[in-house]
Amino acid sequence: MSLPLDLTSHPHRRFNPLTNSWVLCSPHRTKRPWQGQLEVSPTINLPEYDPKCYLCPGNTRAQGEKNPMYKETFVFGNDFAAVKVETDIGRMNEAEGEANDEADEAPSLFLAHRVQGVCQVICYSPSHNLTVAELSTTSILSIITTWIAETLSAQSLPFVKYIQIFENKGSMMGCSNPHPHGQIWCTSVIPEEPAKELDSMKRYHDKCNKCLLCEYTRMELGKKLERIVCENASFVCLVPFWAIWPYETMIISKRHITSLVDLNQEEKIALADIIGKITRKYDNVFESSFPYSMGIHQAPVDGEEHVWDSHLHIHFYPPLLRNPTVKKFLVGFEMLGEPQRDLTPEQAASRLQQCSETHYKMKSTSSQ
Ligand SMILES: [Zn+2]
Ligand SMILES: [Zn+2]
Ligand SMILES: [Zn+2]
Repeated sequence: MSLPLDLTSHPHRRFNPLTNSWVLCSPHRTKRPWQGQLEVSPTINLPEYDPKCYLCPGNTRAQGEKNPMYKETFVFGNDFAAVKVETDIGRMNEAEGEANDEADEAPSLFLAHRVQGVCQVICYSPSHNLTVAELSTTSILSIITTWIAETLSAQSLPFVKYIQIFENKGSMMGCSNPHPHGQIWCTSVIPEEPAKELDSMKRYHDKCNKCLLCEYTRMELGKKLERIVCENASFVCLVPFWAIWPYETMIISKRHITSLVDLNQEEKIALADIIGKITRKYDNVFESSFPYSMGIHQAPVDGEEHVWDSHLHIHFYPPLLRNPTVKKFLVGFEMLGEPQRDLTPEQAASRLQQCSETHYKMKSTSSQ
């Protein structure tokens, strides 16, 4: 007779029902209690305005355009866009490029499709030296309002099928400019990650007649604090059961909505509130600016109905492991086998729960 699986000490694999993939979990390698802050990185004092920054108000960008003296958010077309609007781009012969569904014919091994798109950059604030974690709820709300406005305008472009909003924060994530900003890539295809999720959510709904993320959220809320980091009336932030990155989290709307454009005013404020809370908690983990890749997953805008195969949520993928300078790498077994983690999602959630919702830089001023 085999022993029951103990998720706190036995090596095991966890299934990610959203992407239909597995993650290896090795909790026996982290048998040590949380010691609070382990190492503090030197604080880098950035100026509020940097004359050399291409995102600061009034500065000139790479191709000669001048930024306005913006006061809240500012959106412009990426000067080095990964995808473009032009339609007459060379492509592979149609017959070679199309997937071949004929059962008796081998599928093409040289498949390529043309992609059209628009890449926008969104400056979150005129202040060069602030991050989302240091912005007020009102300022985060104006970022959300801008995301919604950009979603609506991209939706009206006939070729756009998916709007991917994301932010790369910190040089560790390859972000070259500390000025707070994110990106919006609108493409004529649904990219891989959301496509996998749509497929899984559709299959789940076909089988159970329920929304996968509504069900998952309901079950997590029933478990109280096991993996929940924080919540408010409209959103919950949790470390998913299948998290890969040490402090990976998801923000999920409590109401079944599929897109940012479905948010009512109360929910927009609640979303700003919870984004502020999790980013401040992140910074407080090591009392340093926490790098991450953040992205919003919502319903495609491809003209199809997406009522039950999508549910508005945000992923945060932070790379930090044990201190502000050591990051987790997805290499070796993780690159060739499957992703692996030591710290369990429950341990990560517990550490994040313990982190204050007040930014560490504010603590000294508020306690005086
Ligand atoms: Zn700047
Ligand atoms: Zn749902
Ligand atoms: Zn997702």
